[in-house]
Amino acid sequence: MNAHRHQFSLLPRSRSTKIVATLGPASGTAEQIEALFRSGADCFRLNFSHGTVVEHRARVEAIRHVEAQYDQPIAIIADLQGPKLRIGRFGAGTIGLQAGQPFRLDTDPALGDRARVQLPHPELFKALTLGSDILLDDGRVRLQVTGQGTGYLETTVISGRSLSDHKGVNVPGVVLPLAAMTAKDRVDLAAALSFGVDWIAVSFVQRPEDVVEAQQLIGSRAALIVKLEKPQALEHLDALIALADGVMVARGDLGVELPPEEVPVAQRRIVAAVRRAGKPVIVATQMLESMISAPTPTRAEASDVATAVYEGADAVMLSAETAAGAYPVEAVEIMNRIAGRVERDPFYRRSINTESLPPEPNMSDAITAAANQVARTIGAVAIATFTTSGSTTMRASRERPAMPILCLTASAETARRLTLSYGVRSIVTPDIHSFSQMVERAGRMARSTGIAHAGDRLVVTAGVPFGTPGSTNTLRIAIVE
Ligand code: PGA
Ligand code: MN
Repeated sequence: MNAHRHQFSLLPRSRSTKIVATLGPASGTAEQIEALFRSGADCFRLNFSHGTVVEHRARVEAIRHVEAQYDQPIAIIADLQGPKLRIGRFGAGTIGLQAGQPFRLDTDPALGDRARVQLPHPELFKALTLGSDILLDDGRVRLQVTGQGTGYLETTVISGRSLSDHKGVNVPGVVLPLAAMTAKDRVDLAAALSFGVDWIAVSFVQRPEDVVEAQQLIGSRAALIVKLEKPQALEHLDALIALADGVMVARGDLGVELPPEEVPVAQRRIVAAVRRAGKPVIVATQMLESMISAPTPTRAEASDVATAVYEGADAVMLSAETAAGAYPVEAVEIMNRIAGRVERDPFYRRSINTESLPPEPNMSDAITAAANQVARTIGAVAIATFTTSGSTTMRASRERPAMPILCLTASAETARRLTLSYGVRSIVTPDIHSFSQMVERAGRMARSTGIAHAGDRLVVTAGVPFGTPGSTNTLRIAIVE
């Protein structure tokens, strides 16, 4: 990874909040991926609801190429589709609907018409009762169950004007007897792990049990993101956060199943709880939605990105804006500008500081809290953390310090994973063996990133004795040479 350090080193990243960009047809080539990275994308998401395994592999290769070229670790998130429910197809592709008309859902694979369509999920028929609501096409169509029998549901159209092939189905408020991993997910997961992705995102988690299978299949080969997109999951928020390595506030599906006024409240609650746990939290979906077809965002969208940054999220995410939109690079650029601008607001720094979380009673948090305090007192330009697993670096990130946190690690996996965390700048570097090496290395690495210059101060944390992975117990002040 070192060969090109001098050639490309350092794209300026003058913000702590990270940007995740989803790749798709609008951003599949190596040039497009590099352009997104240069404009500010820190992590990339592969959406396994779309595209082929072959396409995803090509994207992983292109990302790893950019990573080597710029000598900068990049996290890749493989997002599994999960048990997304969908209707079948219509003879005419699209049908018209009218409020008040009857409409039948059944297991018959025959093409649908104005009176019926296939719903190939028999589990659903048992879970629903008279009066249950069914939402189709992200809530654009609402049906109410008026009758049921073996293999069919009779419904009345409450609202909606048209319906087309394969539209998604949501049933708000009902815990479905569905595992979070489908047969397709297992195939996609095996492929994603073989490509060496860093994070696996599990969709439509309802209960803690839903995470267990994915966790067993993944082992230590990747870290796990729980996507919160079912209201039922919020009832198990703490247990799910404890099981996860990271969390995504997946507002697309969450926003279909919850009334709109509940979504910002849930977002705030989730971000606060995940931050408290010291794990990365991503705010996702529709952040700059209008940029799918326009070169500038609406004021409300700019404000939405800003809100997530003010709340202290680790990362903000782009979906269709970068995967399928007409302005992928512009969307990343604008997100980069909004996040950077908020972070320069003195009110942002004050509110992040007042929300800062008390350390937990262990050595790593004690050193981390002290490092943050010393860094502020002496005006250090960065906090440098020597780490193997990344856990100390994540504790430092949990404090949301005003200066960047260097993650200095011999593990490429740790370096990549941590790029999702607030304020973290990862560098792969061999283990250190002495105090003089620790000071020299931290200074040299901080300089190589452009964060520090000769004479600047750094606060450095590490575990001593060196070379034995264990918890951080040492804090040093270093002057960059
Ligand atoms: P999706 O998840 O893009 O895979 O649907 C995100 C969301 O629902 O917000
Ligand atoms: Mn979703």
